[in-house]
Amino acid sequence: MEDIADNITQVRRKIATAAARRGEEPGNITVVGVSKNVPVKRMNAAIRAGITDIGENRVQEALKKYFDVEPVSWHFIGHLQRNKVKDVLTRFDLIHSLDRISLAKEIQKRAARLEMVVPCLVQVNVAGEESKFGISPAELKVFLQQIVSFPNIKVCGLMTIAPYCTDAEKVRPIFRRLREMFEDEDYPAGVSMQFLSMGMSGDFEVAVEEGANMVRIGTAIFGRRADSDK
Ligand SMILES: *Cc1c(COP(=O)(O)O)cnc(C)c1O
Repeated sequence: MEDIADNITQVRRKIATAAARRGEEPGNITVVGVSKNVPVKRMNAAIRAGITDIGENRVQEALKKYFDVEPVSWHFIGHLQRNKVKDVLTRFDLIHSLDRISLAKEIQKRAARLEMVVPCLVQVNVAGEESKFGISPAELKVFLQQIVSFPNIKVCGLMTIAPYCTDAEKVRPIFRRLREMFEDEDYPAGVSMQFLSMGMSGDFEVAVEEGANMVRIGTAIFGRRADSDK
């Protein structure tokens, strides 16, 4: 498991370099270790090597591993089905993938019953890819205006998944666009733009250069996944 500690050191070094290019403190950047298809043992090795935040994209897989994983913050980063909301609310600390009103309604209903306020990032489909979930940039403000009427949901940032590209430079404009939306001050009261979740193993340095303060990293920490599920 030494590979994991080494990988984390490498990732942190690259983040520090990218952050410095932007004049930013690397300590302000949260590394979410994405552990889909990763066994508990390796997750715990990462946590022992300093990972404080874990990201999962499938509720069922997360639930199976949940109680065997050492204390850590859990991030839900995948497409969230309404029938899984209840399980997510009681276990995850941050949802990165709020992407439609029907989901917000379900979160609101469940959260009110549990008497909790749920921190969420709004997923934005910056590139407008057909295959990806997320609010289009043009619809973001109207979406946020609707969301602030849900008292048990707290929007605290934005998330995007950039198109897959072997040359990370190509997705720089995507990250820049999301950061511009993040920095826009013209959002309804109640929205607090705190987290900008963008960047994965192939493109996190560019994302950090463009202002990400939360990166979601699987492969570069845990190695190549057995199946091809992105
Ligand atoms: C799998 C996944 C990641 C991490 O991908 P890697 O390329 O392995 O770093 C990040 N974000 C989301 C939403 C994912 O599903």
